[in-house]
Amino acid sequence: MTNLDDLYREIILDHYRSPRNRGELEAPPAVRVEGFNPLCGDEIVVYLDVEEGVLANIKMTGTGCSISQSSASLMSAAVKGKPLDQVRATIATFKELMTVHESTLAHDGEPARVDLRALGELAALQGVVKFPVRIKCATLAWNTLVQGLDEAVA
Ligand code: ZN
Repeated sequence: MTNLDDLYREIILDHYRSPRNRGELEAPPAVRVEGFNPLCGDEIVVYLDVEEGVLANIKMTGTGCSISQSSASLMSAAVKGKPLDQVRATIATFKELMTVHESTLAHDGEPARVDLRALGELAALQGVVKFPVRIKCATLAWNTLVQGLDEAVA
């Protein structure tokens, strides 16, 4: 599994160094929500533009550890331009990933609770589960996104 670990580390570092969808949207009309993880000091500000049931645009700013910032970047790339039901499904799958230890994913022939292939690059964050204190870093952007979606459709 070393090669896969290397690949995952490479993806996380790439998104940390070159975050996708970095910036701000004018709010309003965009929704602006802030997230904070006091355990690590991570901060995320998410800007959402929801149009006719589609997450038309997403931008974010923030500071914090590589896990929190790369997770935010990976998230933005995964949900931008997607219908809201698909966005919510991706959120649910990612949160499930954060509760499943990798040993339960590794058995060939057994049904996995999370389909890693469906997650694409997001699967790179799977290893975070081994470090429970980092799970809050990885889920910060996602919880902030959920809050923003609730405000956008309210
Ligand atoms: Zn952190």
